[in-house]
Amino acid sequence: MDLNQFRKIFPSDGACRKYLEKVVWPHGRVCPHCGCLKSWLLSGGSVRAGLYECSGCRGQFTVTTKTPMHSTKLPLRTWLLAMYFLINSSKGVSSVFLAKWLGVNQKTAWKIGHAIRAMMAAHAASLRLLDGIVELDEKYLGGKPRFQQGVKHPRGKGTRKACIHVAVSRQGPVQARMIPGDSYAVLAPYIKQVVSPAARIMTDQLQPYVAIGKQFAGHDRVHHGIKEFARGQAHVNTAESFNAILERAKQGVFHFVSSRHLPRYLSEVMFRWNNRDPVEKKRNGLSKIVMQAKPVLEQLGILLNQAVGTQLRRTIYGGVATPQPLFRG
Ligand SMILES: [Zn+2]
Repeated sequence: MDLNQFRKIFPSDGACRKYLEKVVWPHGRVCPHCGCLKSWLLSGGSVRAGLYECSGCRGQFTVTTKTPMHSTKLPLRTWLLAMYFLINSSKGVSSVFLAKWLGVNQKTAWKIGHAIRAMMAAHAASLRLLDGIVELDEKYLGGKPRFQQGVKHPRGKGTRKACIHVAVSRQGPVQARMIPGDSYAVLAPYIKQVVSPAARIMTDQLQPYVAIGKQFAGHDRVHHGIKEFARGQAHVNTAESFNAILERAKQGVFHFVSSRHLPRYLSEVMFRWNNRDPVEKKRNGLSKIVMQAKPVLEQLGILLNQAVGTQLRRTIYGGVATPQPLFRG
């Protein structure tokens, strides 16, 4: 879908509202306050468009109530357009560009971006446990320390960079989170929350994985220290290609990411990875399976499925805060 098609599908705010109601309430209207299934449309001169009254609690609501678009003053079309940009860009969108494209100021664009990323985080939390062959890896992400003459700064682990744990199922979804270090006490409970016990895990030589591996159906390790990167099926190349995307997004778009906002940017990169389908491509008579992004409209539906309950809260500093999605387990 290109921008012209977007304009055709969503010509007006009314069309956007109709679309949102269809996606957010696929089985009929639900009152976001009490869950009641019976409600009626309010009408009259002074009534906002799309305002309903619940028969159960008598509360009023619209399709955006208790979603990240709650009490928005922006046209719904601006919101959908922002989602379109975030889904469609392969590397991520900075708030400066988003502001230009949407015709809003940068502060507003920043808030819209984070509201959409909150839905993306909810999507990651809603996925099933990773299964099959699952690669586990850690990545250290953060800004470079200031240049100092004659000082060689250490890299990666042991620096103040944020530790990100990456768990990725081969040909399947990824789960990446910021974790407070790579000790057994941190890794073991976290990995249980995202990886199925029936999975066969692949890791590098990090010591805590020895004990963690015993809690899964199988465990293979590659020894990066002695330049062993693959041994038959045993490798963590998929996790490393996700890490490379993360690194590029950081350098190209997010520039400097403070660890406070890092989890939200992670959600954006994860959402893109997790919404691809395997497609057979033929080249020179050879067929190859490559991962291709799902159609934008399909991704938009998947994203908006997460809208209810992901309402953003304003912080006392004027920023936004999202209730962090909870894990099962
Ligand atoms: Zn109600």
